[in-house]
Amino acid sequence: MVKKILLIGGDGIGPEIMAEAVKVLAVLRGDGLALEIDEALLGGCAVDAENNPFPEATKTKALAADAVLLGAVGGPKWDVLPREKRPEKGLLGIRKALNLFANLRPAAVYPQLAEASTLKSEIVAGLDILIVRELTGDIYFGEPRGIDMRTVNGKQQRVGFNTMIYSEEEIRRIAKVAFEAARKRNKRVCSVDKMNVLETTQLWRDVFTEEAKHYPDVELSHMLVDNAAMQLIRNPKQFDVIATGNIFGDILSDEASMLTGSIGMLPSASLDENGKGMYEPCHGSAPDIAGRDLANPLAMILSTAMMLRYSLQSEAAAQCIEKAVVKVLDSGLRTADIWEEGMTKVGTKEMGNAVVQAMRG
Ligand code: NAD
Repeated sequence: MVKKILLIGGDGIGPEIMAEAVKVLAVLRGDGLALEIDEALLGGCAVDAENNPFPEATKTKALAADAVLLGAVGGPKWDVLPREKRPEKGLLGIRKALNLFANLRPAAVYPQLAEASTLKSEIVAGLDILIVRELTGDIYFGEPRGIDMRTVNGKQQRVGFNTMIYSEEEIRRIAKVAFEAARKRNKRVCSVDKMNVLETTQLWRDVFTEEAKHYPDVELSHMLVDNAAMQLIRNPKQFDVIATGNIFGDILSDEASMLTGSIGMLPSASLDENGKGMYEPCHGSAPDIAGRDLANPLAMILSTAMMLRYSLQSEAAAQCIEKAVVKVLDSGLRTADIWEEGMTKVGTKEMGNAVVQAMRG
């Protein structure tokens, strides 16, 4: 069956790195992958063209697609606009419209780039973990919330409050995503909570334990979040998939991504309940290097591989891309952000061309 994908280049380096992902997709189409490709505007370029960061036409196309591939949005040019006109509004809008509740962020350290990490290279070389973060619930969205005047200790004063809340259903659907993802990897899920203090996360642990019964081939373990933060630095290679809620995941996924030391290498996926997803690099639009053929296109290209794996059921194509990236790094080619003495410095286009060549070779 032909799969429909929507490409959104966006702003800054977005269109440049997207052009390299398009070359990679062209190779796969040439090899027989059936894809229907459309394009749309989002973010600053959409504000410029249509005075709206998330145009209706983009929404219609995104809803009709099996997957969305996004470069990046934003830049100083639009920071002066009122909040509802800013590029970020487009990003939040499309995530909401597509009901993307599961965020998948792999943190992989290619042995060739282990020196880029702030940790000792033997701790991170060969690291390959995946953080699965719930994206639409938890204390970020729970009600009641606010700042009120109340009497505390006999004194009228301001009190801030938020509600950590998860329904059984919300936990179960993210657990399923984590177990399914682990099946495509090393078949281990570590669920992270704070069940010694928070009832919400006791329920989180209970539901994960129940759901694990449907995945006898996947090993489930549990860890408290404070310990997980420590273990990620002490011995990150002990993990395969880490599954956690919105707030813990926010912090742990940033911690994990920094283990790799190179933002230009990190892909991400956000999925809905049916496996449809939006795929984008973890980095932003890098306005400081836009239009200069300096951007590293590998996070974008690796996001394309994630799209093939998680939304288009093309594991072989995903692996073809990932193996090509390894080959290119082995050959010593580096964009400026990951360059070190003795390596060959290349631009965005040359890096993309090298991946294409490695896929063919
Ligand atoms: P950024 O990730 O764009 O850039 C941070 C630093 O990393 C910069 O020095 C940049 O040159 C470098 N960098 C980023 N990606 C790179 C790549 N592929 N190759 C080489 N170097 C790279 O973060 P920022 O500067 O804080 O934000 C810039 C703009 O991007 C802002 O408008 C922000 O709102 C937006 N942003 C968008 C997204 C998104 O679209 N998902 C995410 C984060 C930030």
